[in-house]
Amino acid sequence: MNITFLGTNGWFDTHTGATSCVFLDTKDCYIILDCGSGFYKVPSLLKEEKPIYLLLTHLHLDHICGLQMLPLLRGKNLTIIVKENKQKEDLAQFMQLPFMPTAKALGIRIAQLDEIKKDLPFKVETFELAHAVKTFGYKIFSEDKIVAYGLDSGLCENILHLAKDSDLFICECSYLPAQDPDFNHLNPKAAALIAKEAKVKLLALIHFKADVYDTFEKRDLALLDAGKYFEKTFAPYDGDTITI
Ligand SMILES: [Zn+2]
Ligand SMILES: [Zn+2]
Repeated sequence: MNITFLGTNGWFDTHTGATSCVFLDTKDCYIILDCGSGFYKVPSLLKEEKPIYLLLTHLHLDHICGLQMLPLLRGKNLTIIVKENKQKEDLAQFMQLPFMPTAKALGIRIAQLDEIKKDLPFKVETFELAHAVKTFGYKIFSEDKIVAYGLDSGLCENILHLAKDSDLFICECSYLPAQDPDFNHLNPKAAALIAKEAKVKLLALIHFKADVYDTFEKRDLALLDAGKYFEKTFAPYDGDTITI
């Protein structure tokens, strides 16, 4: 499975990157995790006619602002998935005039996960995370691999369950090493300790808070710090692809 990091910033775009969006190219389908501003690169990665599933963790703008780019995927077999009915209702509030065209006008289906879970060509588990709004981490089982996607989240028991035994744990790293993690977000050390305890194979740090991680050097320092606690850590830049 190829995984491309299309947006690695949190909050907003800067020269260090676009906001959260991760693209999984699996045998049976494409899976997109969050719809930040990195979403505009998706069309360049669609090499085959496969269904596309876009899973949203929560509706903070840095995770949904890419929805205004949905016309780029017009005519594609795209389903947007949210975990809860309330998220579906809230999303409908956002995806309407005067903000943007409706999903119906765009020809896109929005589904609650439980409605379509049995029809998906991959298995997925969800874990509610610690955040200012209802947020869910996704644990995806595909091609005998486990990809865990944990953002946005503060410290909580569930992020450990989410990450447990994953081949790749994509974790948020909003705060600088000197900032303590809290009920909303993590720092490099906290992410690394979760990865270690959860026995993950590889940890990817993304969702760097744009105003404090204002240089790539600061990301490098975060990586250095995380590496003290969990060696198999990397911090991808926008556009980086790995194969697991
Ligand atoms: Zn965010
Ligand atoms: Zn958030």
